[in-house]
Amino acid sequence: MTDVSSSTSLRTHRCGDLRVADVGSTVTVCGWVAKRREHGEHLAFVDLRDHTGLIQCVVPGSVDVRSEYVVSVTGVVRLRPEGTENSDLATGAVEVGECAVEILNIAEPPPFPVDDRGDVDEVIRLRHRFVDLRRPRMQANLRLRAKVNSALRSAMDRQGFVEVETPLLWAPTPEGAREFAVPSRLSRGSCYVLPQSPQLAKQLLMVGGVDRYYQIARCLRDEDLRADRQFEFTQLDIEASFVTQEDVLSFVTEAVLDAAEAATGERPAGVARMTWAEAIDRYGSDKPDIRFGMELIDLSGVFAGTEVKAFASPCVKAIVVEGGASLSRSRLDAHTERAKSLGAKGLAWFRVTANETDGGLALDSPLDRFLSDDERAGLLATTKATSGDLVLVVADEHRLACSVLGQLRLDIGGRPVSEGPYRYLWVVDFPMFDGVDDHGHPVAAHHPFTMPNPEDLDLLETDPASVRSQAYDLVLNGWELGSGSVRIHRSDIQSRVFAALGISDEEAAARFGFLLGAFRFGAPPHAGFAVGIDRLVAIFAGEDSIREVIAFPKTQSGSDPMTGAPKPLEPGQLAALGLQPVPQKLD
Ligand code: ASP
Repeated sequence: MTDVSSSTSLRTHRCGDLRVADVGSTVTVCGWVAKRREHGEHLAFVDLRDHTGLIQCVVPGSVDVRSEYVVSVTGVVRLRPEGTENSDLATGAVEVGECAVEILNIAEPPPFPVDDRGDVDEVIRLRHRFVDLRRPRMQANLRLRAKVNSALRSAMDRQGFVEVETPLLWAPTPEGAREFAVPSRLSRGSCYVLPQSPQLAKQLLMVGGVDRYYQIARCLRDEDLRADRQFEFTQLDIEASFVTQEDVLSFVTEAVLDAAEAATGERPAGVARMTWAEAIDRYGSDKPDIRFGMELIDLSGVFAGTEVKAFASPCVKAIVVEGGASLSRSRLDAHTERAKSLGAKGLAWFRVTANETDGGLALDSPLDRFLSDDERAGLLATTKATSGDLVLVVADEHRLACSVLGQLRLDIGGRPVSEGPYRYLWVVDFPMFDGVDDHGHPVAAHHPFTMPNPEDLDLLETDPASVRSQAYDLVLNGWELGSGSVRIHRSDIQSRVFAALGISDEEAAARFGFLLGAFRFGAPPHAGFAVGIDRLVAIFAGEDSIREVIAFPKTQSGSDPMTGAPKPLEPGQLAALGLQPVPQKLD
């Protein structure tokens, strides 16, 4: 269908818009030459491309254009001769005939074909990203991203949120990631820090009475790059006052479901919910992929008081691999090695077979002869494994046994993140602390401003490891889409949390005194969340790397092959900033 608004002073139509209904119209289309074919001296075919698609243009006589020349073509839309229609193209029933071609700009030959066929080295693509972006896949991804952003914005506007921009030149934010520093020219020797998120700014906005804030915010973290991580990424950042966790979950659910509907045309049925403890216990992960089963099964009861040394642990967990009995010994050895590399002492495996004499089930495993009859029966009954299945067992501390089997579950049953169906999940009741630092102090699982669960407040000093927080994550197909929490707004609780984290009053004052100071001027109860937009769009776009949905991403090694960044500064710039390069060590 022709979109009238797409006409400009230079064109009447976009290439991909022309249809049979336009036959007879005189049109002008503009774009890049995708292909040129000569038919003798008197006829030339030019396939013209813009972001909407391709149209075949027929030029009487020859035409001196090459691939990627920028041209304007004026002619009359007509049906393609019978038998020459191209059903692969939306415009394939028609062509523009009797064309006059005006060259708007010449172009060097492109460094790679501008189509979606074939794999091009990523560094070459990124060096010429401006050409890469012309490919239909990249055009679709960028436009999908814009659609998602727009849906998120309208959902937040509709829910009474105000868009506020927060500074990029800022002070350190205590969220655990390494930060980028920007040296100050006016204050030599001092640096601004680029925000790893607008966390502190948005909390200050709550003290400032903004009530409901959102921002499509750029966040910067100097961390190793991966398929789902870039130095800079974008979040839908949210904070609201006089709310509880339930309010925030409902705001975010509304926005994300709207975005999903805008991107896929289908509104997801809803977002499932699970506590952190349940996620670890059933899936061995705090971001479980609930698209498939293979859940962790507890065998601790079956092996309580066992004589089998390998199973004499506080926790014995198993997964059942349906049909996995046919796995070769070398595959099983590979899974065992993997389990060990993840920290397990070993991996026990049991092939389940049909017993030839009585038709019952038997176990084929080097460990089988050590099991008592009750243990054998208990294992089969609890796992519900049947003939042809494989049971993998890890015995260890609860958390380790779960995480190792959770990873094996993904290794064996996992699928690409972007493969449907989309299964959204809230993981709630995260622990307040996760592990300990070098000084033996607990480490904040989310960030130090997260409110503990009121029921567990008394445990802050006596048993910090068991304190639950009011922090929650949103998970989609095994990817963490975002995190948030109810914040501490009372200074007495904040002091106790700092004390538990081993942060002294002086240190707290030095690092985030401005926030704590502001809180003395009337901080309302508040809570928030941030949704990772790059990850959300990558999943909707069917991409397994967020680089495919970012216009100008960095390579895995953090560089930009197009601009050459990062680059050494000119001596004059260094001097102005009061910086002196340290000579690089040669290894
Ligand atoms: N600042 C947090 C993050 O970037 C999100 C939040 O707690 O709102 O993950």
